[in-house]
Amino acid sequence: MGTLFLVFAIVLFLSCVPLVFVVVRNYARFRGSRVVVCPETVTPEAVEVGAVHAAWTAARGDTAFRLTSCSRWPERADCSQRCLTQIEDAPDGCLVRARVARWYEGATCALCKSAIGEIRRSGHTPGLVGPDRKIRKWRDLTVEDLAEAFATHRPVCPDCCAKTKQPPTTGSRSAA
Ligand SMILES: [Zn+2]
Repeated sequence: MGTLFLVFAIVLFLSCVPLVFVVVRNYARFRGSRVVVCPETVTPEAVEVGAVHAAWTAARGDTAFRLTSCSRWPERADCSQRCLTQIEDAPDGCLVRARVARWYEGATCALCKSAIGEIRRSGHTPGLVGPDRKIRKWRDLTVEDLAEAFATHRPVCPDCCAKTKQPPTTGSRSAA
């Protein structure tokens, strides 16, 4: 009886491994800050979705997103979350880390003209230079400012960014 129970327990455990793997992979995909255009104000806003809920529902084949934070909260915490359609259409496309990687992809530094290369989590962070010639690290900008800066700024390599004296960070919530 004991052996049968053990075999049953092992089979049950092994049958759960693929599901756990899928949920963990989905979780890694759905977590993180995203930029959406708020349908009410037509401005870029920073949002996050419930990654655990999205990962679990995706594993069942019926992905459901719901917001856990938005830069317009708490004032508009009761909104209808219509921006979720943008995340449903492109779950990876509106991720801040994906947008940053895309913006720097194949870019050359506006100052020294060297290739910026891949964005790494550690080490020097590349920056942006604005029309006012001020250089900022992308991590020092808020998510909403970052979305605007991509339209008006040019990329700066990590070396040039490190050489420049950084202005103090004004945003309370950084994009990193
Ligand atoms: Zn440079």
